[in-house]
Amino acid sequence: MSPAGDDVLVVGAGVIGLTAGVCLAEAGMRVRIVTAAMPQDTTSRAASAMWGGSLLEPAARVRRWAEAALQDFTGLAAQDGTGVHLARGTLMSRDAERGPPPFLFPGVKLSALEQVRDRYLTGFTVVLPLVDMPRYLDHLLDRFRAAGGELELRKLRTLAEVAGQAPVVVNCAGIGARELVPDPGLRPVRGHSVVVENPGLREFFMDEPLGERWVSFFPHGEEIVLGSIAQEDEWSVEPDAAIAESIVRQCAEIEPLLRGARVIEHRVGLRPARSAVRLEEEPLGPSRCFHNYGHGGNGVALSWGCAREVAGALTG
Ligand SMILES: Cc1cc2nc3c(=O)[nH]c(=O)nc-3n(C[C@H](O)[C@H](O)[C@H](O)COP(=O)(O)OP(=O)(O)OC[C@H]3O[C@@H](n4cnc5c(N)ncnc54)[C@H](O)[C@@H]3O)c2cc1C
Repeated sequence: MSPAGDDVLVVGAGVIGLTAGVCLAEAGMRVRIVTAAMPQDTTSRAASAMWGGSLLEPAARVRRWAEAALQDFTGLAAQDGTGVHLARGTLMSRDAERGPPPFLFPGVKLSALEQVRDRYLTGFTVVLPLVDMPRYLDHLLDRFRAAGGELELRKLRTLAEVAGQAPVVVNCAGIGARELVPDPGLRPVRGHSVVVENPGLREFFMDEPLGERWVSFFPHGEEIVLGSIAQEDEWSVEPDAAIAESIVRQCAEIEPLLRGARVIEHRVGLRPARSAVRLEEEPLGPSRCFHNYGHGGNGVALSWGCAREVAGALTG
């Protein structure tokens, strides 16, 4: 069926497509990734990135995907050169009643803090995987190619273009799925991180990711990624100087060592938000198509669980 002899054609080379590509290629399939942009030019590069569950639907499956990914990331943290490490950090909340619900962190222990910084009411310490996305995407691409996978730069106008080009198509187009499928229910939530020189911090910090703005910083060796913002229906991927300035200022209010830290890079990405993550099969001409998109602000954390579900459906 495939002129190139591929078993699977994956659309997209962000964290979702690459992880699916790695799982399928390592299961012995001939896999080609077709992508409009290289991994380092995707939203995935802009992720902060912390493993954790989420409030996304479908809740039970999301929880399973997060649990599966925790195992993979914990294994990756034990290897050199993957960009993944385990870090201690603090989760803070302004709400005394709620705090971070434990189901958001399946498989890790949350320890309540007796004392919290002023302005917060509850806080927890936790140890979990952090992912340095530029390094991690390189690791995934190397691993995909080492398993025999091929990557082709090609922008598709519709999914129908690849119907029949391989027996299986896996659609991991992120926000691009809005036009490709088409799926008008998929909407961008713009994020902006400021990467600065790490003044020596090893622990991460995040307050409640509710609303448009919250404070977070995630150390990755020499660099530290500061955030965060979530702007619904904003399509611009240009950095915004005023937002960047307020992100740095708010992080420095929490951690004074960050005051005046040298800015290395701005990273802007469009989180692919949807009422529910779409991981389901439907026919695409003579091919089987698995949709795997709509992971919002949790695509990194859910990547391995989703990839393994697709691989499981194909290998039985
Ligand atoms: C600031 C920020 C911080 C974040 N922090 C976290 C975090 O801490 N933890 C976490 O889990 N998640 C986080 N996220 C969310 C995470 O980045 C996304 O959920 C994830 O990157 C989505 O991955 P993806 O592979 O689906 O999409 P993308 O990375 O956007 O990749 C989509 C791919 O599809 C390709 N494509 C699209 N359209 C076409 C087409 N027509 N033809 C061919 N190819 C196409 C693109 O070129 C690209 O290769 C964060 C996001 C942002 C912006």
